[in-house]
Amino acid sequence: MGEPGIIKKLDEEVVNRIAAGEIVQRPANALKELIENSLDARSTNIIITVKAGGLKYLQIQDNGTGIRHDNLDIVCERFTTSKLSHYEDLQAISTYGFRGEALASISHIAHLTILTKTAHDKCAYKASYENGKLKGPIKPCAGNNGTQITVEDLFYNVLARKRALRSPSEEYSHIMEVVGGYAIHNSGVGFTLKKFAENTDIKTPIKSTVIENVRIIHGNSIARELLEIELKDPTLKLSVHGYITSVNYSHRKGTMLLFINHRLVDSPSIRKAVDCVYATYLPKNTHSYVYLSLELDPKNVDVNVHPTKHEVQFLYEEQIVEKIKTAIESKLLSCNSSRVMYTQS
Ligand code: ADP
Ligand code: MG
Repeated sequence: MGEPGIIKKLDEEVVNRIAAGEIVQRPANALKELIENSLDARSTNIIITVKAGGLKYLQIQDNGTGIRHDNLDIVCERFTTSKLSHYEDLQAISTYGFRGEALASISHIAHLTILTKTAHDKCAYKASYENGKLKGPIKPCAGNNGTQITVEDLFYNVLARKRALRSPSEEYSHIMEVVGGYAIHNSGVGFTLKKFAENTDIKTPIKSTVIENVRIIHGNSIARELLEIELKDPTLKLSVHGYITSVNYSHRKGTMLLFINHRLVDSPSIRKAVDCVYATYLPKNTHSYVYLSLELDPKNVDVNVHPTKHEVQFLYEEQIVEKIKTAIESKLLSCNSSRVMYTQS
């Protein structure tokens, strides 16, 4: 039997880098946090520019509130936020952010620069950060109202992660998914995604519709088959709105775009239930396109179960899944029978 190890406190920098690695697992996670910050700042137009799948360069420009000049010194420290002050507030939180960890995390594993201007400021201010702290002075400069955040050399000091994420094109496809999903869900906000010095891949107008944005992002083969789903259940404090493809559409790779209280999340139970309904209609091994937005009483949702916030826990899961299943089933059934009647007449 060996000697027991000696317990020591980790250096703060090590702690922060470990925590950052949990929140930002790949460029798309960082981008999701940054998009959510822009939406929290009530932006109506968000422009994203990417180099090498976001591993070299990831920039997001918004036209939101901007960040106050006198907050720029602490904005990238861990647990600094303008959104939450009491733990109880988390029950009714209406912003995406609440824990002040995103910018801090990114600054621990990348080079982060903020250029921001509020409507009250005469000029914009630019600041660079490293390990949560300002790196050099805050400089006045020219700029539009809103915030531009530039993330360079992500994971430069997390070599194992950098090695694991070798394919910029795969990282870019995750970025497309995140931007496409938020653009569809926030059809009032314009989203642009482009590769640095190349063509634009996604561009949705500022005041668009869900169907129009699905057409822009996924093409007409999906957009023309969309059926609207609407469901309200006061006892479960549930309301569902979304679009699903009719049985005329099937694809080898399906899409399930799910938002719960406006957060992009994955719910294996909802995914499975939806697939199960479609299985009776679609050719074997093909899937549908489904976009669902669930609104639940915030008191019934725990958003703090996963560092990337990619999963949430909610009460009455079984009943809610059943309701959704029934709604989709009856929608497909009614549309399918009308189609049959149409072809017979
Ligand atoms: P959180 O979103 O949980 O508060 P973040 O680290 O993501 O934490 O952001 C810290 C703070 O920086 C936010 O609370 C907000 O005040 C400010 N901020 C970040 N991004 C933006 C932005 N794009 N526009 C305006 N303010 C921002
Ligand atoms: Mg945030």
